[in-house]
Amino acid sequence: MYGLSDKNKPVKIRSCGENKKYGVAAQNVKELIKKGCKLLKIPLAGAHVCLYSDGTEVTEEYFQTLPDNTELVLLSRPQTWTGVVCDISQLLSTDPNADAVIAAARRLLAEQQSPKWRKILSDMVQNLEDRSEQESREEDQDWFRGVEARFKTKSAYMKYNCESRMRSYMKEVDNAAKAVEKAAVRAEFVKVLEQLAHMLKSAGYNGRYFDRTEKERHRLCTGEGWFTCQGPFDQAACLSLHSINPYSSRDSRVMFSMWNLDHRIEKKRAIIPALLGALQNHPSSDLNLDYFYRMLFTRDNLKLVQIVCHKKGAHNLLCDDQKIYKGNTKQKAGGKRRRLN
Ligand SMILES: [Zn+2]
Repeated sequence: MYGLSDKNKPVKIRSCGENKKYGVAAQNVKELIKKGCKLLKIPLAGAHVCLYSDGTEVTEEYFQTLPDNTELVLLSRPQTWTGVVCDISQLLSTDPNADAVIAAARRLLAEQQSPKWRKILSDMVQNLEDRSEQESREEDQDWFRGVEARFKTKSAYMKYNCESRMRSYMKEVDNAAKAVEKAAVRAEFVKVLEQLAHMLKSAGYNGRYFDRTEKERHRLCTGEGWFTCQGPFDQAACLSLHSINPYSSRDSRVMFSMWNLDHRIEKKRAIIPALLGALQNHPSSDLNLDYFYRMLFTRDNLKLVQIVCHKKGAHNLLCDDQKIYKGNTKQKAGGKRRRLN
């Protein structure tokens, strides 16, 4: 030993491949490297030290300014360290089931006092404990807690979840009929409802949007069950990159109820009024019901959005006048349809 012991600076040191860190005290970098290499079994020639947090190389001069117990990484000649980001990418490249990572995150969570870090760690544990590969009730009983016994697979339940949303939209259109005063108009409206209900039923209530076992072109999720927010109605994409896999855990399944199929052209403010307006002077047989169906129940007008991207105010978008009536689509813009009778 040389130098005065009270001038020794205590630091925490680790190698770049391991999480275990060691407390070492040294007077200078040279001594630190020597001790560290012995401890971590790293060849001395070319060994160097940098900050764990951001990869800054630790020089002799810099070393003297470091606070006690700074976390450092000892590297052999060819190794580099770009900071903790490098550690995260190593973490992400580990086994996806990552039992050891989950256990480590749980331990940290138990010790953690900061609400911010508790949130980050608990989200991490939740995301790592991904059980999306399991599909049946037998395989992942926890996922099905609170789900009716008739659902045997996750996909079947998710399909039903989407169907239910479509049925509730149909119900809203149904309810609008009650407010129609003129009997003749109401009679035509009822015909429209029957046809829309028939179209929706034929399409399986579009339950396939949430069904990961469906063909890719029919579903909104990946084959694993990941959904990506499509962004607010007036934006091309979600800037927050919201995503969720309701197939992965019970929590995620429940959270998915906060994701909405948002009508760009609004159902109550625009589509239903346009439908009622058209029926004032036209029989239902004149109406382009395919257009109304697409606007009410399909991806042509629905965007899957996380609640944050769900803007509740008026969208101020109207139905396309050119598409409300049959045969109108080929007319010149601005051309009014003349009725002969
Ligand atoms: Zn979003």
